[in-house]
Amino acid sequence: MIMQTNQAELNKIKVYGAPDSRNAYVIRDFLRRSVVTFEWVPVQDMDAFKNIFPELHTEGKELPAVELPCGNFIFDPGIEDIARNLGWITKPKHAEYDVSIFGGGPAGLSAAVYAASEGLSTVLVEREAVGGQAGIRSMIENYLGFPNGISGSDLAERARQQAVKFGVEILLIRKSIKSQFTDRKLHVDFADGNKIIARSNISATGVEYSRLNIPNEDLFLNAGVYYGAGASEAFLCTDKHVFVVGGGNSAGQAALNFCKQASKVTMVIRGNDLAASLSFYLLERILSNNKIEVLYNSEITALHGHNFLQEITISNSLTDSNTDYPTKFVFVCIGGKPNTSWAANTSLVRDDAGYFVTGPNLFKPPFDSLWNKMFTPSFLETSVPGCFAAGDVRHNSVKRVASAVGEGAMAVTFVHRYLHENY
Ligand SMILES: Cc1cc2nc3c(=O)[nH]c(=O)nc-3n(C[C@H](O)[C@H](O)[C@H](O)COP(=O)(O)OP(=O)(O)OC[C@H]3O[C@@H](n4cnc5c(N)ncnc54)[C@H](O)[C@@H]3O)c2cc1C
Repeated sequence: MIMQTNQAELNKIKVYGAPDSRNAYVIRDFLRRSVVTFEWVPVQDMDAFKNIFPELHTEGKELPAVELPCGNFIFDPGIEDIARNLGWITKPKHAEYDVSIFGGGPAGLSAAVYAASEGLSTVLVEREAVGGQAGIRSMIENYLGFPNGISGSDLAERARQQAVKFGVEILLIRKSIKSQFTDRKLHVDFADGNKIIARSNISATGVEYSRLNIPNEDLFLNAGVYYGAGASEAFLCTDKHVFVVGGGNSAGQAALNFCKQASKVTMVIRGNDLAASLSFYLLERILSNNKIEVLYNSEITALHGHNFLQEITISNSLTDSNTDYPTKFVFVCIGGKPNTSWAANTSLVRDDAGYFVTGPNLFKPPFDSLWNKMFTPSFLETSVPGCFAAGDVRHNSVKRVASAVGEGAMAVTFVHRYLHENY
């Protein structure tokens, strides 16, 4: 059943599932971020559906199901099963690379394009779909050269194609279980048994969304509570009351995106002022949009429902009151923490929040006492020679698509210098 195909060619995938299914949400989110055109078929009447697909009776298969372009079905698949069936999961082609890049967001994709186009043998390792945080954005409006904006998934797909054109090897849905620096090289073991070795490395693993940290959060994860802008869900919010938690630009953009379909969007923010956290152009649009309401001094404190979210409680710290609201959609956009836990047992210096410290910052307190200072790191180089960090994962980074792309490109220049001086 395994087919070889590329993302752009796919146009016939269908996803079947119960309207409230959290597994179906994960599938839709993955396909959307991978820029795969698919049809979502909500299954309201399971008995009628079972009559059309007898294997659901006879083999005890479960929804959601994905109908592949070849007409075959896979039942209750994880994203790895889907990627494997689409021929996207490949083994590393080489035992050793000039540079390995971890993270397929804007920083990693940019580094990959520049590295491969400048002749370095390059492998890009991504644990999910390419695109990173930008990949889930419905519209990036401030990226240079796109006056009408560009969707995050389009930008990611264009970058992926560019990287592939220059010969980057992309290993998708890959989890590393062990990383160590031996003989001045990074050795990585993957959960599937494969290994790679690289003479230099760029960590571009970005950040992970913060949680609300309230009871029942796991129960409603992807079943009413979503992290990030939830671009794949916007079309399901038609005429619904949607709640967006957070007052930063990502929350503001999400609110504007949802209000195109939703009957009402409520932004829930802890502070008493949006202007402090939101860009002016978003602030104006939000305050003048009569579908958007802002609840200040407010926090979601409880989630209610059975298998799917049905109601939330919002507490107001000024009035010391609680109010319940019926809703099936809460999108949490409150920032995140860096994806650097893999570096916990390495000598890579990280700040208190876990971001990689690079370049001149390594010589400043308190970081200067955390490493051996045996070399002078270049601007994006970490405390391990030949290991660079780019984009949001870096201490004091700017947290913009453009700066992540710029740092990815810059890191490759430092990789060249390092390889030239050491090999
Ligand atoms: C909702 C939202 C809206 C935003 N809007 C804008 C905007 O309008 N304009 C703008 O300029 N910026 C915007 N930003 C910020 C911008 O998206 C980020 O600054 C940018 O994506 C950072 O890129 P990055 O490559 O450093 O990291 P990320 O985009 O976070 O990408 C990191 C990648 O690494 C992968 N990864 C993590 N750990 C591992 C691992 N161990 N192995 C392999 N892969 C791993 C992740 O899956 C991810 O794909 C927004 C961010 C959010 C969340």
